[in-house]
Amino acid sequence: MDASTNIRPDKAFAFEVIEKNTRAIATLGDAIFYFAELGMQEHESARLMTEILAEAGFTVERGISGFPTGFLATCGSGTPVVAMHTEYDANPNNSQAAGVAEHKAIVDGAPGHCEGHNVNAAVMVAAAIAAKRAMDKHGLKGTLKVFGAPAEEQLVSRPYYVRDGLFADVDVAFHDHIAGEFKTEYGLLQTAAVNSRFTFRGETAHSSMSPWQGRDALDGVVLMDMGLAQYREHMRPTMRAHRVITDGGDQPNVIPAKATVWWCFRDVDADGARALFEQGRRIAQGAAMMTNTEVEVEVMSAVWPTRGNQVMAEIVQRNIELVGMPAWTADEVALARAVQEKAGVKPVGLATQIGRLDGPGRQIAASNDCGDVSWAVPMARLQFPSNLPHVNYHHWGAGVTLATSIAHKGAVVGAKALAASVLDIFAEPALAERAKAKFKEELGGKVYRPLIPADQKPPVELNHALMERFRPAMRAHYVAERPRFV
Ligand SMILES: [Zn+2]
Repeated sequence: MDASTNIRPDKAFAFEVIEKNTRAIATLGDAIFYFAELGMQEHESARLMTEILAEAGFTVERGISGFPTGFLATCGSGTPVVAMHTEYDANPNNSQAAGVAEHKAIVDGAPGHCEGHNVNAAVMVAAAIAAKRAMDKHGLKGTLKVFGAPAEEQLVSRPYYVRDGLFADVDVAFHDHIAGEFKTEYGLLQTAAVNSRFTFRGETAHSSMSPWQGRDALDGVVLMDMGLAQYREHMRPTMRAHRVITDGGDQPNVIPAKATVWWCFRDVDADGARALFEQGRRIAQGAAMMTNTEVEVEVMSAVWPTRGNQVMAEIVQRNIELVGMPAWTADEVALARAVQEKAGVKPVGLATQIGRLDGPGRQIAASNDCGDVSWAVPMARLQFPSNLPHVNYHHWGAGVTLATSIAHKGAVVGAKALAASVLDIFAEPALAERAKAKFKEELGGKVYRPLIPADQKPPVELNHALMERFRPAMRAHYVAERPRFV
């Protein structure tokens, strides 16, 4: 069947816009790949995205909800109000050269994209521009809101946006994320999580001469660890607790007066994650009592489990089917297989079939801060095929494709499906009403209340020192070409 013969004119036009901009889409994704900025430090990435959106006629607001690297770009007016949102942060020690089937850093030890949020950003910007052009040309009414969401890897920004009312007037929302497949899902898809720092404070003393005069903050961290290790026996099988000690003192002959451990508590629902966090807090207080120290608890981020709305997923699925998979070259497939072999996974190459939507998706143990949006409004998550099947994120192998023709082709089909889905809502606003009715049914009376405290401020210093350490060396690899969208 030739779908292009009966495609709605506004959609066909949006596809033309995307086709004309394939080079700009590739260049934008590559630029963010080489910026490789950690969460809360995405200054270059956000600047480039907002400049492009402003040039395309969007009204851009930067620094929303107290996030210096967050933004909201708006076009159109009135209802329906459709939101798009995605992330553009990298990960520590994930620097990986593009297009080579071996573990090779661009800058040793530096942050890098080994998941593909750089491509998420290119897809969102391209889809937003194409949708806007099609709305203008075909007289489609409504408001399109494009949210830049910092620090997804630390699950930070979107719960603040929701808490601060930025989604209050939004009817439906779309999130786009890279994958090894082209698909969408509905139902509960990811887990709830609470990220929290526990800082113990005691008193220094000479560790050998007068240890009895000290109060050891590191002992508090260690005993909290032991308390949670014992508690694991009584955790529900769906719960997860993992940690890193970010400050364990300075040198062994000084009793540490300060020590910090960063815990992440997860469960399949917000109540479970909250309960596990509260248990962790009690254990921390017990550890403080045992060590004559004090403990301060700081919630850095807390998210609800991501859910997909069925009506929204069906809209996205129809557009995925309309757009279809990219055609891969033999070289692209060979690169994919080579990386998969080195990563120790099945060398299946690249996906050739679109994902099916034949029932609720599977809830996985990862989290995404878009979760809170998905409890505030009906949301769809579009996954586009710019990465390798089976290779795990944050492994070097998941960085190889991200600035290559594989990522570029996946971004083009992703942007088309996303733009088309957004246009469906503007062309047929009744779809938004149907999505809302289904959403009400899906929530089953469950009331959303943010897991982040009401007075919590964004952690603006997060990753600052680490990013600044590597930025000068990384700058030498920045893409010289400026993406130009027409
Ligand atoms: Zn991600």
